[in-house]
Amino acid sequence: MNPKFSVLVIEDEKSILDFIVKSLTAHGYKVTPAATGKEALSLITSLCPDVILLDLGLPDMDGCKIIEEVRTWSSNPIIVVSARTQEEDKVHALDLGADDYLTKPFGVPELLARIRTSLRHSNKLNNDSDLYKKPYQAKDLTIDFLKRKITLRGQEIHLTPIEYRIVAYLAQNSGKVMTYSTIMNNVWGPYAESDNKILRVNMANIRRKLEINPAEPEYIFTEVGVGYRMLDDEPV
Ligand code: CA
Repeated sequence: MNPKFSVLVIEDEKSILDFIVKSLTAHGYKVTPAATGKEALSLITSLCPDVILLDLGLPDMDGCKIIEEVRTWSSNPIIVVSARTQEEDKVHALDLGADDYLTKPFGVPELLARIRTSLRHSNKLNNDSDLYKKPYQAKDLTIDFLKRKITLRGQEIHLTPIEYRIVAYLAQNSGKVMTYSTIMNNVWGPYAESDNKILRVNMANIRRKLEINPAEPEYIFTEVGVGYRMLDDEPV
């Protein structure tokens, strides 16, 4: 199974939260709920959701504050979900970097359509370079970015969402040395711990899955004290 697209739903009204979580789960999304802004910010950092659904009126902070925070390091889609109908609220949220706006009440088909559109846009942004559009291929390893599918010697490899992000990021930049902090920022955001232990732990797991001999990697190399470099993509 490929990692599902993940959606973080930030909403303090329990009935609406339950409704959204149920609807999205039924349509194949991996859904995580958050009822406060504080909880949401910590989940955004740890889970790196593909899409964020955000209620503007939260008990502990204005949802716009979350948009501001997230936009300092991530371009992942944010869809604002709110009962507010005033134009200036929508404009303000969009100016701050929200991608779309849904006004309550809304139906499931509309919600699903907005999420699909946002995912398509964010894929398109990431796909601007040909390298990302085309699958990565080197030796016996293939990565299909659109399907999030990794194949090694004809067998599909199963990575956790975080492991996938690390590998996909390195593959998009194959042949280049990527520093620990660049990778950490890209995968976990700037609130990641400054210590790169979590990256090294994930890399050990990735190598167990990708490399025949993790001590002598063929695909992802360690640049001691600097970061990692992935074997260059082979020209098609
Ligand atoms: Ca609310």
